[in-house]
Amino acid sequence: MTVRISGKRVLVTGGAGFIGAHLCARLLAEGHEVLCVDNFYTGRRANIAHLLSNPLFEVQRHDICFPLYVEIDQIYNLACPASPIHYQFDPVQTTKVSVHGAINMLGLAKRVRARILQASTSEVYGDPLVHPQREDYWGNVNPIGLRSCYDEGKRCAETLFFDYYRQNRVAIKVARIFNTFGPGMSIHDGRVVSNFIVQALKGEPITLYGDGEQTRSFCYVDDLVEGLVRLMESPEGFTGPVNLGNPVETTMADLARRILELTGSKSTLEYKPLPEDDPRKRLPDISLARKQLGWEPVVLLEEGLKRTIGYFEERLLAAGG
Ligand code: NAD
Ligand code: UDP
Ligand code: UDP
Repeated sequence: MTVRISGKRVLVTGGAGFIGAHLCARLLAEGHEVLCVDNFYTGRRANIAHLLSNPLFEVQRHDICFPLYVEIDQIYNLACPASPIHYQFDPVQTTKVSVHGAINMLGLAKRVRARILQASTSEVYGDPLVHPQREDYWGNVNPIGLRSCYDEGKRCAETLFFDYYRQNRVAIKVARIFNTFGPGMSIHDGRVVSNFIVQALKGEPITLYGDGEQTRSFCYVDDLVEGLVRLMESPEGFTGPVNLGNPVETTMADLARRILELTGSKSTLEYKPLPEDDPRKRLPDISLARKQLGWEPVVLLEEGLKRTIGYFEERLLAAGG
């Protein structure tokens, strides 16, 4: 069942990114006016090309570290590189977009009395000492490591959201998103699902970091977008934070095996060093999302992988192999 809503002016920051583009498409399909604001750091015009002919859709090239004056009813704040290779490329900018970006979007929400949803992350739990992770767990985050620009930036953004809520009565919603995948990811995204699929399809070695026994839980993008929309439309008093993710845990070695099976690839496994501070396990407790939003993922990992493999097959074919 999908939530029915219509006719609002919705700002999606990071709207040309992987999740953002799916969200823009979903909101347009609901009859909203969508303003996609993106600086195209990791986002791609191709992600939103199919939306440009829709008269309800508008794109503005803008870095949300700078103020933005627009009149809107809702803000989905997704702007921030999400793949470790991208967010570690310019770590200062990563913290800036999370912190300065949040301040600007919260200032905007305050001025126009818009509802604002933050795309937070399971990374706020760091390398968790509690498993699975519930929203009341405060996390285990290294404040000075290579991942800190992202983890601490997102943690500070959550702080800002709750302080604007308490101090200025801004209507906030905070989603802690766990690993999400699906069609629309860039070939060069660098995250595990896209890396493994592209490597398998090209017959290149599958790069398994560490011993491959670390775990993640992978949510298909359509399910995630449904969760974001339900959270935005949830009753005023419900702020979250709420975990949105797939409550099925997978090791990276198992993910590699499944992708090899589904693609029929002969790629070999190539073991590489585990990146610094790479969380050893991650699994959402989604009781709160089930209770408050009536939400849980419906697309099984295998089905989601098949659809994503189909997408990358087409991308690679179009790119000439
Ligand atoms: P993505 O990198 O594909 O998209 C991020 C988008 O933000 C890109 O279009 C990029 O160009 C844009 N952007 C970056 N800096 C900006 C700036 N300063 N101003 C304007 N736009 C800017 O990543 P994604 O996977 O689509 O993630 C979207 C959001 O969801 C991010 O905030 C991310 O932290 C969060 N999230 C994603 C996942 C996941 O598994 N995909 C998990 C947890 C949280
Ligand atoms: N801001 C914005 N758009 C608006 C209103 C505010 O980008 O429509 C930015 C502005 O740059 C400001 C920030 O949001 O610095 C925080 O706004 P707030 O009103 O909380 O604080 P102040 O204006 O006092 O800095
Ligand atoms: N990973 C891997 N090979 C890759 C890319 C990632 O084994 O080519 C591992 C990585 O070390 C991590 C997991 O897969 O343990 C998920 O990594 P990703 O970058 O997708 O997301 P995150 O670490 O932010 O959850």
